[in-house]
Amino acid sequence: MSCSILMRGGNRLVPVKKNEVYRIEISGMTHEGQGVGRIENFTVFVDGSIKGEEVEIKIIKVNKSYAVGKLLNILKASPDRAEPICKVFNRCGGCSLQHMSAQAALKFKTDVVIENIRRIGKLKDVVVHDTIGMENPFNYRNKAQYPVGQLKDELVVGFYAKKSHDIVDSPQCMIQHSVSDRAKLIVKRFLEDNKISVYDEETGKGLVRHVMTRRGFNTGELMVVLVLNGKSLPQQNKLVRQLTADIPEIKSIVLNVNTANTNIILGNRNIVVFGEETITDYIGRFKFKISPLSFFQVNPVQTEVLYNKALEYAGLTGEETVFDLYCGIGTISLFLSEKAKKVYGVEVVEEAIRDAKENAKLNGVDNVEFLVGEAEKIIPDMYQKGIRADVVVVDPPRKGCDEVLLDTLVSMSPERIVYVSCNPATLARDLAFLTGKGFQVVEVQPVDMFPWSIHVESCVLITRDEK
Ligand code: SAH
Repeated sequence: MSCSILMRGGNRLVPVKKNEVYRIEISGMTHEGQGVGRIENFTVFVDGSIKGEEVEIKIIKVNKSYAVGKLLNILKASPDRAEPICKVFNRCGGCSLQHMSAQAALKFKTDVVIENIRRIGKLKDVVVHDTIGMENPFNYRNKAQYPVGQLKDELVVGFYAKKSHDIVDSPQCMIQHSVSDRAKLIVKRFLEDNKISVYDEETGKGLVRHVMTRRGFNTGELMVVLVLNGKSLPQQNKLVRQLTADIPEIKSIVLNVNTANTNIILGNRNIVVFGEETITDYIGRFKFKISPLSFFQVNPVQTEVLYNKALEYAGLTGEETVFDLYCGIGTISLFLSEKAKKVYGVEVVEEAIRDAKENAKLNGVDNVEFLVGEAEKIIPDMYQKGIRADVVVVDPPRKGCDEVLLDTLVSMSPERIVYVSCNPATLARDLAFLTGKGFQVVEVQPVDMFPWSIHVESCVLITRDEK
């Protein structure tokens, strides 16, 4: 008898053994995009496999209740399988779904939303539309953050590998704009030629930590930021000359000082060494000024799609008071302001509210008021003072809405709630809460903000249940 089946998991026998090779049928997929199969009813996760496939795997990890297999061979491929376009797909931690066709990746996202709403939300008859994808799901990101490091004798500037801080050097990233890769390459050569040290996470020594680029999608303006474990860069003027000679779109070059031993990429201090402090971009007709630290949605094309959907679901006639909760820099508030009487934007980060106010001014919008604080504190306060909304838009972080906030919304009973969510699981939980208390979910529209990743945004129309 092989020792594998002597291992006990709970009171079950574990039928697989580390380093052994097995054939397995992939019967499902996790929400993280891994294939799942069973060996004698024991769960095995296989990265890179797709539902419906038959694969050969080597077991690389065994736990009490599951094992992890490494994909060795695809014996029967899924019709959804596609050849990854990116050369470093297998190593880079960026895009997880590139082994699928674009259509299959969208279907995967729709299924994740549906499954969460059914399983966690326990809502059976909700209409979930197909995920809205991009016509061209490449080069869509307006922000790149390339870690800089040393790999043996070689300087590397690229992306973190899957679940690690090893850096995968990729000369070309298919979801970034090519101008970002060009800027990155110029910085890399400059660092090599001038023998400038790079930061070592282990020792905390070395100068250059990250190269960041931000690009106005509609204006083409480019900002290049070097994140330094220090306050100055040797030969700084040379780098400025090299970058601006090659890339005329550059409007701003910034040194960002981050001397802390932390995973947070940017420090708080910026030193502008060329051009302006900010670049400009548009979402729809609204103009935004973007600095190295400001929050700005990374896919402006799909952001507009998502916000227009939120605006459509808000069903405004010009008479309504609207709350935009978790408003960030007030982007949704501005979209709503054109069709509402009054919009209140609420956000917990003070700097974001400062940007929001500036953005409103920049766009000549005067019917929006921004408030700093937690939505679950500010909204009950406002409600007590007699300020109520006809329509509420929420766009919370991954953990979803606080129950105190949802309770207040139930009491306030707006005609419509538009829920914008980046996490289908917490969305489903919050929908279950609201549907138990006088609201109904009319429809759900998933939008693909991050093609090839496992993430999916949803926009949901919730109305008062008049039944
Ligand atoms: N609606 C914005 C940003 C959404 S991201 C946009 O589309 O650009 C979620 C935002 O919620 C973040 O800006 C975060 O700072 C904010 N936030 C997190 N917890 C919060 C809370 N309890 N109350 C208010 N805002 C919060």
